Amino acid sequence: MSEFAGLVAVVTGGASGIGLATARLLAGRGATAVALDLEPRVDPPMHGVRADVTDDGSVRAAVAEVVERFGRLDVLVNNAGIGAQGDVAANPDDEWLRVLDVNVLGMARVTRAALPHLRRSPAAAIVNTGSIAGWAGLPQRALYSASKGAVHALTLAMAADHVREGIRVNAVAPGTVDTPWVGRLLDAADDPADERAALEARQPHGRLVSAEEVAGAVAYLAGPLSGSTTGTVLAVDGGMRTL
Ligand code: NAD
Repeated sequence: MSEFAGLVAVVTGGASGIGLATARLLAGRGATAVALDLEPRVDPPMHGVRADVTDDGSVRAAVAEVVERFGRLDVLVNNAGIGAQGDVAANPDDEWLRVLDVNVLGMARVTRAALPHLRRSPAAAIVNTGSIAGWAGLPQRALYSASKGAVHALTLAMAADHVREGIRVNAVAPGTVDTPWVGRLLDAADDPADERAALEARQPHGRLVSAEEVAGAVAYLAGPLSGSTTGTVLAVDGGMRTL
């Protein structure tokens, strides 16, 4: 499949987990795929550029570097994100601001820098990484859920604003995905095997979602076969949303 041949795709948080699987899949389908991350990852044929989505100057410089090196920007995957645990009272203001800065404002910053280039593309698409936490009432995830609910709302607003410019905007909402992030959560648990079994049991299909399954959904939403789809949040959650 080479549906992305000739196109340049930027994936934030592309050095690990869902972002890495997405950048690899897009590269495998013909894109020049560039992972933007705190530490650039050199993993040919994928390219890596350093960027901190909380720093406007860093984001602008990274997007400018992508366009200078590769000539264009067609697909933006806003995926960089961080987690937070606890109920609504668990985190102080500065932690709320830190998480919202990465998970929500980070998407706005990268999109702002990318928009002039996306407007010039005949195949422009943005895919944001939301979460089942943005829909379901997951316990002990108040701040994280608020950030991902904002991502879902932002996706719809961006879709409305940019559809007439030929830019589609969609999101994926994964369940619990087997990535280094979840690996870190398991490592911190008293009994990692027990905790893993509990996370698997929470998924109606009885296992964790794979990063490649999320990447497949992102590639669909970024590619020509979803050319009439914008403003959608696609669950990749093994049925969690049906509960
Ligand atoms: P991960 O920790 O494996 O990868 C996240 C990447 O984002 C890392 O490479 C990290 O360096 C990068 N990143 C973090 N802060 C950044 C910043 N300021 N600037 C640039 N890059 C930054 O995590 P993952 O599980 O692959 O998660 C990716 C996305 O998927 C996140 O938005 C997360 O909220 C979302 N998500 C994950 C799960 C899950 O269960 N793993 C479920 C639903 C949604």
